[in-house]
Amino acid sequence: MTESVTRQPETFAFMHRENFWGKPSGGGMNRWDYRGYRWEMLRPAEGEPPIDVTVSCTECDTVADVRILPPSGLRRQRAIMAGLSLLGVLILLVGLVMAGVAIPIADDSALPDAERDDATAVAIGGVIMVMVGLTVAWAFFLKRESQIGVTGGGAGAAGFAKHVVTRVADTPPQG
Ligand SMILES: [Zn+2]
Repeated sequence: MTESVTRQPETFAFMHRENFWGKPSGGGMNRWDYRGYRWEMLRPAEGEPPIDVTVSCTECDTVADVRILPPSGLRRQRAIMAGLSLLGVLILLVGLVMAGVAIPIADDSALPDAERDDATAVAIGGVIMVMVGLTVAWAFFLKRESQIGVTGGGAGAAGFAKHVVTRVADTPPQG
């Protein structure tokens, strides 16, 4: 939707992970009050290949290769996360139906014990599925929000795992 206007450089940050936790971010944007290496660059245009950038952490000297994806890559990342989130919703719904069907049976004292025991097991399974589904749906919903179209070329490396690449809102730093 913004392809017709002049593309703006985006500011990315290679952050030490301990600075990341507990810091709420909306739409993959982080505030300026972090410590880490940041750089500004133009994301590759639609149809262009991803750009590989080598970054080094200002906190612990870890060097990593990150890959900046074009807009289509970002959309694909978000679509995958949305799909997994939807899968969580599906698990939740199936669990709800299972519990909804089984609980009245388990509660019906007119029915034989064996049948009620089976229904109780199904109801418990359904409740667990609701909880699991909710967790999965929420986790991937948040992951979808935090996708910024960047992948770590050295994501498997021990040093890289301690870091996170984020996009920074374009407000100048104070002090
Ligand atoms: Zn570091």
